[in-house]
This record gives sequence, structure tokens and C-alpha cells, in this order.
Amino acid sequence: MTSLLWKKFVGRLKVIFVLTLIFFIPNNLDAQAYQIKTIVIDAGHGGKDPGAIGRKAKEKDINLAVALLTGQYIEKYMPDVKVIYTRKTDEFIELHERANIANRNHADLFLSIHVNAVSNSRVTGASSWLLGVGKYQSNLELAKLENSVIEMEDNYEEVYQGFDPNKDESYIIFNFNSTKAYFEQSLNLAQEIQDQFKNRVGRRNYGIHQGPFLVLHRTTMPSVLIELGFITNSTEEKFLMSKEGQEFMASAIFRSVRTYKQQIDAKNKKTVILANQKEPENENSVIEDHGVTYKVQFLLSKTELAPDDPAFKNLVAVWKYKDGAFYKYTTGNSSDLSVIKEIQNNIKDRYPDAFIAAFKDGERISISEAKRLIKAKN
Ligand SMILES: [Zn+2]
Repeated sequence: MTSLLWKKFVGRLKVIFVLTLIFFIPNNLDAQAYQIKTIVIDAGHGGKDPGAIGRKAKEKDINLAVALLTGQYIEKYMPDVKVIYTRKTDEFIELHERANIANRNHADLFLSIHVNAVSNSRVTGASSWLLGVGKYQSNLELAKLENSVIEMEDNYEEVYQGFDPNKDESYIIFNFNSTKAYFEQSLNLAQEIQDQFKNRVGRRNYGIHQGPFLVLHRTTMPSVLIELGFITNSTEEKFLMSKEGQEFMASAIFRSVRTYKQQIDAKNKKTVILANQKEPENENSVIEDHGVTYKVQFLLSKTELAPDDPAFKNLVAVWKYKDGAFYKYTTGNSSDLSVIKEIQNNIKDRYPDAFIAAFKDGERISISEAKRLIKAKN
């Protein structure tokens, strides 16, 4: 083959490579983009399991009232979202079944509603709990308390494979990997919830925590367990028993879900735009169409990877360049640094070492040089 033919051949290959990526990535995105279509609301306890008991109230009744109200608000003001309840009456539902309801219905969000209890009656405040043993203050005692409801279930040793909610060593199943999934999304929602409780309803902020909750462990979507307050504090008990208190708490949860959904919708919109951005067919059009761009470099490989390599799954505008002995892979393509930062942020769980790189005419340049060139052009 002459060198000219060879060049043409390589050029063709590049076009095929890029086109394959264009077709395969947006499809993938369509199928996988996280949206809020179905929410499962779980009123904790019920039936023979009263949950925590106050002077007058039983936890199960407060949970149910707030869960139903929250669902009603979502149904009324977010008509495109489907609400599913784990229970709508005072009945006993096994813990694993609560998670199964969410998994079976492919829920996009799982909210478990509870009321807390401690021996010190002065303790007050509303809190949100995420699965795990990470950086947020963990509380094994509360998790043990909430998990111990499985002892009321027939057959629990078998269903939970020998898990004894009262034994510390059982909690080894909550390893790091199993608790990391959906953490970011769950945390975002928990932050909204706590913000609403504190700033809109004026509740004392008992904070965001993590714990090894079985019900959260078994769900396969972002999940938050809410403790509305302390039934062991008589003022808080009274508030949570009142119609007004229940409406306040439910509307706070509803508003946080609405904000959470708006954030995800906005992000998806941005992602779709990025995915639909036409990739250059060859490097020449990079120069003409894009000039200076930022990309997130996430992978380095000695061998060239196939376009359908799992490493590229769900990534937008994947591009590769050769640098010495290595193929370097980037995702995203924009002259807007904030867009690229968001992409970097979105993939940081998967690619913690990914960094932003700038390019001009397909060649790496420094970020400061890119900033200067973009500024000069505008
Ligand atoms: Zn509870």
C-alpha cells in the first residue's frame, strides 16, 4: 500500500470508529439516563409492629399519615411521577418485601419514613439516613433497632440468610462496595430534605447520617430513610401527631423530591445536548468547528479499546488520541469549562483520577493557554 492509500485507510478507520461511538453512546444514554418516574414511599413498621412508642403515639401511625400525605402531594403536583406505597393501611409488611416492591416496580427513588426514639427525652430533631458506613456519622444502634423488626417475620433466618440484626458481626455484609452505589444521588436528596425540614418547617436539624439499614441495602435505586423526629420527646411527639405537623413534614419531603427531580431533569437535558453534539468526522473538522475545547481525560491504555468496551458505557462524546505508546481517552467536548467540570464530577466515582485537558487542533495544550485563546476569541 502506498503511504497515501494507507493514510486514507487510517482516515476511514477513524471515521468508522467515531461514527460507531456516535451511534452507540446516545442509544445507551437513552436507555440508561436516570429519571424520576416512579417513587416508592415506605411507611415504616405497621400491623403487629408498632415501631417506637411514645407517651401517646405509635411510630407506625405517624409514618403512615406522613407517607400518605407525601404521596398525595407528589401525585397532585408532579403528575408525571407514579407513586407506589409499600402500605396504605395499618398492616405488617416484611422488610425484604418493602425493598422488593421498589425493585419489582423499577422505582427510581425509595423513601422510607420513620420516627426516631432514644432514652434521653430531651433529644429532638429530624434526620435523614443513607446506607453505609462512610464519612457521615454512623449509628449502628439505630440501624439495629430498625433492622430488628425482621425478628417479627416468620422464617427470617432463612430469608435474610442467617442475618442476626443484634449481632455486630452480621454487619459485615455491608461492605464498602455494596453501600457505595447510589450514594451521591441519595446524599443530594438527603441534603434537600434536611434543608426543607430546617429552613421551611423550622425543625431542629439532627443531620445526615449513614447506617447499615437492611431495607436500604436491599433496594437498587437511590434511597433515603427519614426519621421525622423523636417520639420520645413529648413536644416533638405532639407535633408529629398533629395534622398540621404531619402536613408540614409531608410538604417538606414533597418539595425536596420536586427539587431533586428538577436537578436531575436539568442534568439530563444537558447530557442529551452533549450526546447529540456531532462529533467531528476527522481531525480537520475539529479545527474548523471547535477550535479550542476542553475534555475530561479518563483513561490511558497501551492497547486500543473497542468502541463497545464497558469502559465507555454511558459516557458522552468519547474521543481518543495517541500519545507516545498510549491511547488516551476523553469524554465531553465543550469550550465551556463548567460543562466539562460537571462531566468530570459525574464520572468521579468511576474514574476518580479523571482530569480536565484542553486541546487545540487535536493537540494537548495547557488549561491556561486554552482559557487565554477562548477569551481572545470571544
Ligand atoms: Zn422505625
